[in-house]
Formats: sequence, C-alpha cells, structure tokens
Amino acid sequence: MNLIDDFVVDGKGIKDWTIKDHNVALDTLGARIYKPFHGILVLGGGSKPYMLKVRKETENGEEEMEIVDGLACYSAVPFGHKDPIITEAVNWFIKEMATIPRSISHNYLGPWLVKLQEFTQFDMFLPKSSGTEANEAAIKAIRKWGKNFGGKDGKGIKGNPVIISAEKSFHGRGLGSTALMDDEVSRKDLGPLMPGFEHVPFNDVEALKEKFREHDGNIAGVFVEPIQAEAGIFVPDENYLRDVQKLAKENNALFVLDEIQTGFGRTGADFAWQLYGLERPDLMTIGKAMSSGVLPISSLCGSKEVMGLFEPHGEGSTFGGYPLAAFVGLLTIRELENRKITQLAAENGAYLQNKLREVAKKHPEKVKEVRGKGMLIGVEIFPEYDGHKLSMAMLDGGVYCKETHETNLRIAPPIVISHEGMDRMAAALDESLAVL
Ligand code: PLP
Repeated sequence: MNLIDDFVVDGKGIKDWTIKDHNVALDTLGARIYKPFHGILVLGGGSKPYMLKVRKETENGEEEMEIVDGLACYSAVPFGHKDPIITEAVNWFIKEMATIPRSISHNYLGPWLVKLQEFTQFDMFLPKSSGTEANEAAIKAIRKWGKNFGGKDGKGIKGNPVIISAEKSFHGRGLGSTALMDDEVSRKDLGPLMPGFEHVPFNDVEALKEKFREHDGNIAGVFVEPIQAEAGIFVPDENYLRDVQKLAKENNALFVLDEIQTGFGRTGADFAWQLYGLERPDLMTIGKAMSSGVLPISSLCGSKEVMGLFEPHGEGSTFGGYPLAAFVGLLTIRELENRKITQLAAENGAYLQNKLREVAKKHPEKVKEVRGKGMLIGVEIFPEYDGHKLSMAMLDGGVYCKETHETNLRIAPPIVISHEGMDRMAAALDESLAVL
C-alpha cells in the first residue's frame, strides 16, 4: 500500500494536498513549537544522498525541484537520505522481527551493546529513544552517584547534590534537560524548575572554579556539550574541556558530556572529546546519528561505577534497546566504520570550512566568523543582519540550512556530501550574503 496514493484524508489523497493545506493543518492542529519555512514541502530524498526532493510555491503555482540538505536533521543523517544499504536492511528487518519488551531477550541487544562498547570505549549503556531521555537518565545517574560516592570524602553528598552546566547550552526538552539550560524561552512558566542546577559561562574555567569553591564538596557533576551546537556552533578553547575534566576530578565530581549532536563522526572524531586529548568522560549521552537518522535512538554511556547504581524497576524504557533500535544501532556503527565516515567528516569539513571562509572574506562587513569542527559549522553574521532572511535566501538558492539564535547559520550537511554539493552550498551562501 502506498499511503500517498491510496490514503484519503480530509476528502483528498495526500498527494493532492497543496502546500497551503499542509500549512493550515500544521498551524491549527500542531502546537507551535517550531517556525518552519512556509511555501515548501519535502516529498522525499532526492537524486543524491544529500539532496531533498521538494515542492515549492512559485509565481506559477507549485513546482517540484531538488535542494541541498545542509542540515541533515540537526546532524542526525550522516549517510544522507535513501541510503541503499540502510534502507534495504531496515526493510528486511521489519519483515522478520517483532517488537518485544526489554523483559525478554532478543537477537540484537547483546551484540549491539558489545559493539557500542568497542566503538565508544564506555563500560555500560542505558538505551533510550530521544536525546533528552538520555540526558534525563544522565541526571539521575549523576544524582545517584553523588548520593553514594560524591562529596569530599567520597562517601556521598549529605545534602542535595548540585549539577553545573553551561549558559546557552542545549540539552533537550525534558524538565531535567530544561533545568540544565538557562534559555529563558524554554524555561518560561515552567516553575518550579528542578532544583540543584547552576550555570556558568561556557569556556570559562575560572567561573567553574568559583562554583566548586562556593559549593564546597556538594557538586556531583559538570554537564556540558563539548561544542555548543544549538547556541551557534561555539568551539571552546583548546584546553577548556581538559581543564574542566581535571577540575571535576580534583573535586570528586563527574565529568559528563552531551555528545548527542557532536557524536558519531560529525566533528571529525568518533566523539568530540577525542579531539581534545581528554581521558574518557565519566558519562556521555549519544543520540541522533547513532541510528543513521532512520529512527530515534539514544543512550546514556557510563563507567561501571556510575551505571552500576541503576537497578531493575528503578529505570526502564519500552523502546530503548528494542529489536529494531538495536539492529539499526549495530548497522550504523558497522557502516560508519566500513565507510570511514569519521575520516570523511574531517576531510569534507576541511574542504567546506575552507570554501565558506573564502566566501566570508568576500563579505567582511556581514560575516563575523566561520567556525566549527569537521562537518559541524557555524557562520556568524553581524547583529545588524537577519539570520532568518539569510536562511530564506539560501533556500531560494537551493540550499536548506537554518539560522540559530538570529545571527548564526548552522551548516551540517550529510557527511557523505560530494564536493559538488559543498560548492553549491558555498555559492548559495555567497549569493545570499550579497542580497542580505
Ligand atoms: N542535546 C543536544 C546537544 C542536542 O543538540 C539535542 C537536539 O538537538 C538534544 C540534546 C535533544 O535531543 P532530542 O531532540 O532527540 O531529544
């Protein structure tokens, strides 16, 4: 059955819905949590893995065309769309395997955990579905560890454990993740927020030192993104993460990284912490690209000491580690390794960043900075220019990427994008800046 051809909704087949019909449904029936581009509708993957087939409103009505996907669903789609190996494997799988709960074993979870251990270097895993769920689990793990092993004497924090995170961070939409963030819009009217969270400026070791002094043994963990993505791709100074890790260790607190956006090769390392000569963190959360972008899969990864504190009935998840997730998780790691995706992200990242910097040089009055690691790139424009206008102009030029926080354009295409695709992105940026 083809749902597009055969499924009638609101009196017409889905393929006959106009872009306006879609927008009306979204605007009236969907909570307004995003500001999507109007006037465009994605029909599917395009003729190349980094292209999308879209319908767009033009002066002559609606036209079909292809555009470059410059965002890869916020870094979740490393191999691009309609990858033949991934799609064939998933098709085969869903014909074979039932959905079963975690209370009975299946063929794929054990092998996935072993592969995760090899690939991430962590001891134990708590699989979940969305990134925010992995972060909620991480918060629980930090608090449990703090109560049992935190404090100056390592015998447990007697009062309430404190978690320190970074200003302008993004960790998801659960209440715990929201408490990790200082974003006012995300926190609006949600009080009382979870207590026990405090924020310091990102990339500021002195501010963190001051927090450790102030809380005198009550800090259970420091929780940061290695590169702040949603904030506008902020790359910290070379020594920052190493200093944070050292400080956490000296103060008997956990060092926790959210690698949900940076992990699985995106930055030119399997995980961004490996770019900075760190020891393995105590906890790490992963998501997005670990499923090749075909379903929501996430996990908390941790040391034995911390993860050993979870007990049956104290945690759980219907779809965390269910057969399809475990299978797709295994498949993704195999494909990342076979296709040397991490190395490709480093090479393509160097190429694309170079191209974008050349464009930036042509518009010094508009572009403040191009920054990033590998294929996670930000183009910051000066505040008198409008990032939304820039991403609209990029879209008109055939490239989809999106502004974050008004003045930053986030550029994170599928890692497998060709030089031709990256050249198109750079050309679209050049043309769009010219009309800004
Ligand atoms: N953490 C980071 C760093 C992210 O970038 C995101 C999503 O963009 C999340 C957490 C939340 O993930 P999810 O939307 O899957 O809950």
